[in-house]
Amino acid sequence: MNTHYDLIAFGAGSGGLSAAQRAASYGARCAIIEKGRLGGTCVNVGCVPKKIMWYAADVAHTLDDAPGYGYSFGDVSFDWATIKAARDRYVQGINDWYITYLDDNQVDLIRGSARMLDAHTVEVDGKRYSADHIVLATGGEPTVPDMPGAEHGITSDGFFELEALPERVAVIGAGYIAVELAGMLNAMGSDVSLLLRKQQFLRSFDAMLRDTLMEEMLNDGVSILPRTQVRAVERRDDGSLCLMCNGAVEEIHVDTLIWAIGRTPLTADIGLDDAGVVVNADGTVPTDAFQNTNVPGIYAIGDITGRYPLTPVAIAAGRRLGDRLFNHQTDRHLTYENIASVVFSHPPIASVGLTEDEARASHGEAVKVYQTRFTPMYYSPVSHKRVTAMKLVCVGGQEKIVGCHIIGLGADEMMQGFAVAIRMGASKRDFDDTVAIHPTSAEELVTMR
Ligand code: NDP
Repeated sequence: MNTHYDLIAFGAGSGGLSAAQRAASYGARCAIIEKGRLGGTCVNVGCVPKKIMWYAADVAHTLDDAPGYGYSFGDVSFDWATIKAARDRYVQGINDWYITYLDDNQVDLIRGSARMLDAHTVEVDGKRYSADHIVLATGGEPTVPDMPGAEHGITSDGFFELEALPERVAVIGAGYIAVELAGMLNAMGSDVSLLLRKQQFLRSFDAMLRDTLMEEMLNDGVSILPRTQVRAVERRDDGSLCLMCNGAVEEIHVDTLIWAIGRTPLTADIGLDDAGVVVNADGTVPTDAFQNTNVPGIYAIGDITGRYPLTPVAIAAGRRLGDRLFNHQTDRHLTYENIASVVFSHPPIASVGLTEDEARASHGEAVKVYQTRFTPMYYSPVSHKRVTAMKLVCVGGQEKIVGCHIIGLGADEMMQGFAVAIRMGASKRDFDDTVAIHPTSAEELVTMR
């Protein structure tokens, strides 16, 4: 194996894999260093296994709806072990596939923990390697708070290790992960309490989305406790956990506690000081628009940059970096604008661009908002009806669409095409001039008045 490379990536997650693969496609000699499973957070303890569990929860909702469509069946049982085994097999398949992928792309895989010795030298378990370009893409890990008994809780990583559906769960947090885990566990049959330290969850999302989701989750039976903070956790003799709280309730008793309060960048132990790389107080690595850190030849991509910690963002940034460094595309970089994302809640949320509040703060009176709220046709024969709500945020005389926000059945699959249109600068008129597909929920986006 070579010891000098054109490019070495730290971390075989979405960012590192895409940067190394793209660079190698131009003939660069690349290596990727990874101590854990290939694929990083997304593949192993994030998007991929989460989406399988989301589907499992979705099936539970469909079973609830089935009698409305005339189906009847006896007692329905749910076997966690079955779906966990299927999910783990699927993830293992991706892990294995990546070995072939690296091989096919002629990227060397170096196993172990990487540490920078200087700006171009890396040590992995006693062996030294050097490279002209080093891409830092080490990702993050779930944050656990510093409080008595915090260790009795698990995180999203631990959720994927659970061998059985927990009966009573408390989820602490207010972001994507908290909302997604609370919704999935509730659908699969757990008794779920979601503890928010503030009044609302998903505070960076449009108010219409979070208010609608809050109603839906409450209707589904999730116990949402706003302004409730855990101050200590105790394990009782029967194995249950007692959460001592400041807020409306003083004590909560559960079997499983899940911390979902954010993620911490994995930048502390990789020798960034020795390489001279500036690190922010929160562990993120600042970069310019081209993913350059303050040290020439060292780049950071993905979650450690603190900007849009989403898999497709890391992939896009990694590929563009490869294009720039090894294919003479000197201006190639990711524009961190109009990045669509989905919260896999029940129902799902999809969002791109500015929220109404953000648009009003920057464009004031020039903002015009179109919105609609309806019950999708699917629910017509179903007793537990769910709402769909949509909002278009437009600016100026041309009514350029600067934000699109959807919650409801199919929102997750609806958004991608609209995100293309919005990125291309679509106006409300462009939407109006697009002939609707009927009968769908998506058609409402091109027929709003
Ligand atoms: P987030 O940063 O999204 O949300 C965590 C939230 O928890 C904070 O915003 C805060 O909300 C609340 N919080 C923070 N500290 C505490 C505390 N001590 N006690 C109680 N609540 C607290 O983190 P997540 O862990 O949910 O997700 C990390 C990132 O992973 C996301 O930002 C997202 O980019 C990505 N992700 C994307 C998914 C997707 O695309 N579907 C799915 C999962 C993750 P507040 O200030 O309102 O209290």
